[in-house]
Amino acid sequence: MRREEILRLLRIQEIDQEIERLERHLRKVREERERRERELAGVCEEETSLERKEAELTGKLRSLREKLSEEEDLLEKTERRMLAVRKDHEYRALLREKAKHEDTILKLFYDIEDLERKISEFREEAERRYPLLKRKAEELREEIEELIDEESTVINRLKNTKEDREKLIESIDEASLRFYNEAKGRFGTTIIAKIEEGVCTGCGMKIPDVLFSKLVRENSIERCPSCGRYIYYRL
Ligand SMILES: [Zn+2]
Repeated sequence: MRREEILRLLRIQEIDQEIERLERHLRKVREERERRERELAGVCEEETSLERKEAELTGKLRSLREKLSEEEDLLEKTERRMLAVRKDHEYRALLREKAKHEDTILKLFYDIEDLERKISEFREEAERRYPLLKRKAEELREEIEELIDEESTVINRLKNTKEDREKLIESIDEASLRFYNEAKGRFGTTIIAKIEEGVCTGCGMKIPDVLFSKLVRENSIERCPSCGRYIYYRL
């Protein structure tokens, strides 16, 4: 293959390597963004569950207080009826009823007290937790924004790089391009390999000294005896 053709293929190779790098980077950025989005959803869920829990506790408290007030009304009614009854057995029945209401009221008092303590403990914990969650959510939102920006930058660069590739391909003859595409299947992204410290960067094997001297002396393009890639020292 002519030297100019190989140089064009080398340019394509560089572009392909850049495309690969950008695609890898894009995947990483997307994964990072998705990870943070999941984390943010978790933070929001914890906030919601705290709110739900608070509503549940205060709802319970309200219903206990309502029950208490109903029970107090009933007690009052019983006491009024006690003043009006004449018969002994009726009076005793009302006394029992009164005692039952008083028991219930006492129990409700304890339940309310218990629940009020629970609510105040819960609020203390929630007060401590809310600002942490808020800060975490803000941090995550900012990070997500940045990652979205980065994502669109990479997408743009990828688009431009692919356009560059399209343009470059037009200047390459069909046979060279066919060679390049076939070699890609065999060699991966490095088809034309630089020689570094006497070693082919495509396969990692040391090339013979004679060949190395020739590459250095003539700036030529040769084939690696180990892997068959085109190799160069300096172009
Ligand atoms: Zn090699």
